[in-house]
Amino acid sequence: MKDNERFSPNPIEAQPTSLFARAEKRIPGGVNSPVRAFRSVGGTPFFVRSAQGATLTTEDGRELIDFVCTWGPAIHGHNHPRIRAAIADALTRGTSFGAPHAGEVELAELITKFFPSIQKVRLCSSGTEATMSAIRLARGFTGRDRIIKFSGCYHGHSDSLLIKAGSGALTHGHPDSAGIPAAFARETLVLPYNDCSALDAVFTAEPDTIAAVIIEPYCGNVGFIIPDPGYLAHLRKLTAKHGTLLIFDEVMTGFRLAPGGVQELEAITPDLSCLGKIIGGGLPVGAFGGRSDIMDALAPSGPVYQAGTLSGNPLAVAAGIAALLLLEELNPYAQLDTLGRQLRDAALAAARAKGIPLQVPQCGSMFSLFFNAEPVRDYANALKSDAALYARLFHAALARGVYLAPSAYEAGFISTAHAGEAIDRACEQISAAIHEL
Ligand SMILES: *Cc1c(COP(=O)(O)O)cnc(C)c1O
Repeated sequence: MKDNERFSPNPIEAQPTSLFARAEKRIPGGVNSPVRAFRSVGGTPFFVRSAQGATLTTEDGRELIDFVCTWGPAIHGHNHPRIRAAIADALTRGTSFGAPHAGEVELAELITKFFPSIQKVRLCSSGTEATMSAIRLARGFTGRDRIIKFSGCYHGHSDSLLIKAGSGALTHGHPDSAGIPAAFARETLVLPYNDCSALDAVFTAEPDTIAAVIIEPYCGNVGFIIPDPGYLAHLRKLTAKHGTLLIFDEVMTGFRLAPGGVQELEAITPDLSCLGKIIGGGLPVGAFGGRSDIMDALAPSGPVYQAGTLSGNPLAVAAGIAALLLLEELNPYAQLDTLGRQLRDAALAAARAKGIPLQVPQCGSMFSLFFNAEPVRDYANALKSDAALYARLFHAALARGVYLAPSAYEAGFISTAHAGEAIDRACEQISAAIHEL
């Protein structure tokens, strides 16, 4: 060790270095969440200086129309004045109490009002915590250990749920990440999404061992997939018959596709639901809730332990309440769907003109662009899309000032702030980018 390093554990470089080079040196992969590193599209991520409405401003001064929307939360666009004012107001009263406060009650009442299936709700700080806790609760409530998830559905990064691959209905899950004990993975059965007969086969073989089925009712984490009509109803019927809890993970879709999420759109009542993203208004919040008799199994009323130092954080709760009240006031869902269709139609027309097979599943403000000749119904299908072509589109769009998801397997998001000039310009630029492919 050189002398001058001894007193400086993080020596400042003599030469100015790019932010990403500095980040790579001190943060694994340079990022605090993997997809931000652009590995699946190549290149180096930009750094955001600020975000306003539909646009991000990068550290090198570029303005980008943003279709990532902080991966879902920013349904009102970035830095909305009403949400900012709510946070500023809460800030005058303190940043964390570690004790009950009125805001928690108000947010719980708002959530239960829009999600009739949620009779009681517990707040936490991320979607990962919400799904992890819902699974523990389902196991504690039913006294069963095994759960079912579907390939391509992402439910955060807890051990039981970070398992994607599985071949055949009864194949035991394989860990999707290093560090997950095989014994844990064995308790998670992975089935293909959108496949009634795979479900039937499992429940015939295992009629009374499954604690819960967790599903993204519309899948947004392998691109965007809307299941076939009747699939969710079939799942509801089977789980009810077998005493298995049905958990809708609506962290992404809750308040985004309808105030009451996919369960409102499809008129299905799950036993438990998980929320996050929009309900935090851009600050860290998650929630899980459902039937009172199940929720009452949680500590302190029941034996299933779950807790959080920052759960119900007053700033995050204030931001969430402001975001939900704004949704109630504006009821922007028809408008968002119009924006979604405009983008879908523009992309499809450009691809048709160019002779490139493209699928654009879209519902309201969620969409994705699959370079695929077939409509995408599941994970296996999604993986057959041309990801290299998507990477080229991503960079062509970025060069034209439009930020699409930096992966072929992520959904795109639209906000109310995209209405007007931003969506028109984005459609033009995305069409031009497709034309350049
Ligand atoms: C984002 C997401 C999660 C995880 O939420 P985090 O806040 O990132 O932990 C869980 N489920 C779904 C469906 C999601 O989209």
